[in-house]
Amino acid sequence: MKQTNFHTHTWRCNHANGSDEEYVLEAIENDFEILGFADHCCWKYDSGFVPWIRMKEQEFPHYKSSIMNLKKKYAKDINIRLGMEAEYFPDKMDWMLDFCIDEDIDYLIFGNHYYQSDETGIYYGSIEPEYVQSYFDSCIEGMRTGMYAYLAHPELIMRNKYLGWNETVEIGFHRICQTAKELDMPLEYNVLGMMYNERYKVDAYPNSRFWKIASQYKNKAIIGMDSHQPFDLNKTNYMKALDNLSKYNVEIIDDIKRVDYLAIKAKKALNNLEF
Ligand SMILES: [Zn+2]
Ligand SMILES: [Zn+2]
Repeated sequence: MKQTNFHTHTWRCNHANGSDEEYVLEAIENDFEILGFADHCCWKYDSGFVPWIRMKEQEFPHYKSSIMNLKKKYAKDINIRLGMEAEYFPDKMDWMLDFCIDEDIDYLIFGNHYYQSDETGIYYGSIEPEYVQSYFDSCIEGMRTGMYAYLAHPELIMRNKYLGWNETVEIGFHRICQTAKELDMPLEYNVLGMMYNERYKVDAYPNSRFWKIASQYKNKAIIGMDSHQPFDLNKTNYMKALDNLSKYNVEIIDDIKRVDYLAIKAKKALNNLEF
């Protein structure tokens, strides 16, 4: 199995450090064969909202050129891909689809961070109980758009300290695993979360009960480092994640498909669909 990572952030999201090249050098040093950059994506806001946890639209050209240059420069040492981590913001998905086509994005990963949009400020990692159901509903809806290569940190809501395991959570996770199976979509075992769990002695995300459900469905699983610092691309942590994940009855994969955004657009036009 190849050691790969498709979940790498950059300084542009305002909560990650290091140069793009430092991530590449660290990945090579730590034996990664594929490095996918998936920084928090830009969105087009009609409201004039200025996001502070993601790149701005005008920063994207620099993100792309930097990664494409590194891809060329280190072609002999590592396979680099151009991706983004994106939410499912229903009224912005048509814009995102065109953006992925125009910019020739290799893939999006689905990080379901905010309720409807980050303009609402309602973060699923610290939500009020009334939003728990909407987390699951939006996960399923987003997955069904076909725009994402995989679902990142599926158990993000378990970061909520008040939220124990209950029926809503159990049913919600079953729906996620069932939909992932149906769509043949991998689920991410998040290494940044794994380190958080270890540090604070919690079972937030990755969540052991979630992975038991994923085992029932024999889901595909992929390790995502979720690097926000070059040193997060650490081989020891990757191997620990691989070891943890191997205890479950899931199929661990090491590569993702390039998402064909043109085909999604064509299919939508044919069916006259809206997201
Ligand atoms: Zn981040
Ligand atoms: Zn995320």
